[in-house]
Amino acid sequence: MNGRLRGTASGVVSYRLERQRVIDSVLAGERDRNDVCDAQSELKRVAVNHASPLKDPCPICGEDELGVVTFAFGLGLPSGGRCITSLREMQRLRRRGRPTRGYRVEVCRSCWWNHLRETFPISDPAKRRLLS
Ligand SMILES: [Zn+2]
Repeated sequence: MNGRLRGTASGVVSYRLERQRVIDSVLAGERDRNDVCDAQSELKRVAVNHASPLKDPCPICGEDELGVVTFAFGLGLPSGGRCITSLREMQRLRRRGRPTRGYRVEVCRSCWWNHLRETFPISDPAKRRLLS
C-alpha cells in the first residue's frame, strides 16, 4: 500500500509515511543529511517569518525549531505557490471558488530540514457542484 497516494474522504493526502522513510534513511546513514536539510531561500524566508511552531523537535537535528508553513497552489496563483499567513487569507482563497490546493510543509529553522506533511483542498468548485 502506498501511503503517499492514499487520500481521505475529505481530500487530505498525508505524506507521513514518506516523511518517516526519509527520516529513517538519514538516521540509518543511508542518506546524506545535506540532501534533506536543503530548504530553498524562499522557504527559509517564509519559515523564519510565518511558520507556526510545532511541538515536536526537529527529527534530524533535535532542535526545537520545527515549524509548519502553508502554501496554496491553483488557478490564478503564482506558479511557486502563495504562502498563506492568516486565516483571513485562507478564507479569501476559499471564497474565490477556483480550484486551489494547500500544501503544508514542515521546516526546521536550525538545520533547514524540510518535508511535505500533507496536501488538502482549499477550494474545489467541481466537487462542491457534485455534492450539492
Ligand atoms: Zn533541524
